[in-house]
Amino acid sequence: MILIVEDEAKIARFVQLELEHEGYEVRHISDGRTALESALAHDYDLIILDLMLPGMSGIELLRRLRQTKDTPVLILTARDQIMDKVAGLDIGADDYMTKPFAIEELLARIRVHLKRREAFKGEKLTYGKLVVDRNARSVTYEDVPVELTKKEYDLLVYLLENRNTVITREQALDAVWGFDFYGNTNVVDVYVRYLRSKIDDVFDVKVVRTVRGAGYIIKD
Ligand code: CA
Repeated sequence: MILIVEDEAKIARFVQLELEHEGYEVRHISDGRTALESALAHDYDLIILDLMLPGMSGIELLRRLRQTKDTPVLILTARDQIMDKVAGLDIGADDYMTKPFAIEELLARIRVHLKRREAFKGEKLTYGKLVVDRNARSVTYEDVPVELTKKEYDLLVYLLENRNTVITREQALDAVWGFDFYGNTNVVDVYVRYLRSKIDDVFDVKVVRTVRGAGYIIKD
């Protein structure tokens, strides 16, 4: 999911349509403060950030974001703001483009950043004898294939990526089922049960642990 932080509706709409056309999921927020809250609460793949924004400037947003998160940020702002460029890169922007811009160049740069992030994520996640191959989207235990549905797979990957961290039901719901899913958090319990029935029960292991009153954890 890509977040566009932009208060000029025409530009935001244009970029959003182009990105969606390329197959990306996109969210648009026009206010700096709301965008920061969203950027802290979710793990976006990339943030396209305007600097002159209502609520909070893009520079301030980026500065606060960088205190806790390394989400890739591409600054997209008016030409000739050289000081902003220096400030933006100093506080951790990954890239910088000025308006007006060529959409093809923006798309090319986005592809580079997303690819870099994928590479950084690595191809395989392991936990003991459990191996998740992200390229093949396959799961095995001691080389025995484990058949998971998409949501089961996504939940397992999310827990593995955040191993040794307690994940609340709300976090899991948000990460796996998405921003627009207004379901009951019990769905997370149900899917943890599915995972246990397909992995723990079959191979006599304990992968996903319950932390009472808090959530779930995969612990080394
Ligand atoms: Ca603006």
